[in-house]
Amino acid sequence: MKAPPFAYVRAGSLADVFALWSAAGPDAKLLAGGQSLLATLAFRLSEPSTLIDISRVAELAGISAVGDGIRVGALTTHAELGASDLVRRHAPLLAEAVPLIAHPAIRNRGTIGGSLAYADPAAELPACVVALDATIVARSATGERRIPAAQFFTGLYATALADNELIAAVELSARKPQERAVILELARRSGDYAMAGIAARAQVSGGTLVDPRLVFFGVGAAPVTATAAMAALAGKSATPDTIAHAQAALDADLDPPADLHGGPDMKRYLARVLLARALTRLTGAEEARAA
Ligand SMILES: Cc1cc2nc3c(=O)[nH]c(=O)nc-3n(C[C@H](O)[C@H](O)[C@H](O)COP(=O)(O)OP(=O)(O)OC[C@H]3O[C@@H](n4cnc5c(N)ncnc54)[C@H](O)[C@@H]3O)c2cc1C
Repeated sequence: MKAPPFAYVRAGSLADVFALWSAAGPDAKLLAGGQSLLATLAFRLSEPSTLIDISRVAELAGISAVGDGIRVGALTTHAELGASDLVRRHAPLLAEAVPLIAHPAIRNRGTIGGSLAYADPAAELPACVVALDATIVARSATGERRIPAAQFFTGLYATALADNELIAAVELSARKPQERAVILELARRSGDYAMAGIAARAQVSGGTLVDPRLVFFGVGAAPVTATAAMAALAGKSATPDTIAHAQAALDADLDPPADLHGGPDMKRYLARVLLARALTRLTGAEEARAA
């Protein structure tokens, strides 16, 4: 199919974006890498009156050190995220996620801001920013607002952004001592969206998990923080018994809807497998059998 007719304007600065947005009205959409938006246009799932191209707005670009952490501009492409030394040092989980996202051509154009704003439930970066306790910096014509990632994803393809707000950047604090993180997923083919995935992070001290964070994707309308499994693991080492206990606790955390890949039982099974693998990777323990 072909995209419906639309007007196209390119913004040169953040002030320009908000002026163009105000003139174009509520049906306008921001265009970043176009890797999701143009597909929705082609399938006529979206019919914006105007596309406002933000891809050359310098204020939304770049990765910089801020205090002990980093600030990742919304226009940072997936490829740039994966190649950044600052990201590898401060938030290696984000760099590890990159090879799991689609294919190189898409990673060269798609942006972190676009991925978070689109909020696909099977996408990697939304789960990562929740696992990392990141802050989403939202901008409107009147100012800036900081939204904890855990509160940002409000439902299926839905976020806490107001109609007149965009994502300007993502802020990540410094890694904690002995912090480790891992992202794993199961997909039918390399580059496909995940059937189920997990972004996990913990401080690992003498084999003991301190403050574990487990965030699943592809198993709910938005990233799912597995609080019952996290409680089952906190302060414990990843023995086969502890892992089995945490896997059982997932039943309270997950209520996966059926999708193209399978039903709720299959999703729950995949989540248990991924949990065991993630804990094994985090702690270096021998892999436990998935229940
Ligand atoms: C074949 C294919 C496979 C893919 N596989 C995966 C995958 O496995 N995992 C994955 O995570 N993604 C996947 N993607 C999606 C890809 O990661 C996209 O790049 C990403 O979802 C959107 O980023 P974008 O910059 O291209 O955004 P765009 O397509 O330009 O925009 C997407 C939406 O976000 C809005 N938006 C963009 N930037 C901002 C901003 N700064 N503030 C507010 N709103 C904004 C737009 O208005 C639009 O509604 C795939 C895409 C394709 C085409």
